[in-house]
Amino acid sequence: MTKAMTEPASPKEAEDTQRMLEDIVERAKSAFEEKNLRFTQLREQVFCEIASIRGSIGAYDILEKLAEKGTRLAPISVYRSIDALMEAGVIHRLESKNAFFACRRHEHGKKGRPIFMSCEQCGSVVEVPAQGIFDEVKELADSVDFTPKVKFIEVSGVCASCRDKAKS
Ligand SMILES: [Zn+2]
Ligand SMILES: [Zn+2]
Repeated sequence: MTKAMTEPASPKEAEDTQRMLEDIVERAKSAFEEKNLRFTQLREQVFCEIASIRGSIGAYDILEKLAEKGTRLAPISVYRSIDALMEAGVIHRLESKNAFFACRRHEHGKKGRPIFMSCEQCGSVVEVPAQGIFDEVKELADSVDFTPKVKFIEVSGVCASCRDKAKS
């Protein structure tokens, strides 16, 4: 991700982004409460770094961004916060990039597990409920007496806005 892509184009857009971030932090707080986990200040800081970008971000980039803002941490502290955020289900990990992104769907429980559609160009990730695919993987694994550990499935490609940009 380059800086230019994450910088808002106008004050209005900056305001919208800020409001969206507050919303998503509020939801993260309730997710922690539901699971009886503590949404500590550090976890909130780490979460905000992840949630404030459109795509995904690696642990070392999070460390660097926090350091730029005056919070110097040991990598292990960031990793622990990331673990807690994953446990609460408010962020997910993109295995292919070893990077993290904020969950923007909040009905996982109802619609089943999602697969991740990740854009190669802008890094945005869309979650699509796809319980059937996971059931099928499980069934296929059973048929060969194999124990699958797949938690999420990723599909990489190009999102609609990058595709339209390329056309114009
Ligand atoms: Zn999610
Ligand atoms: Zn894109």
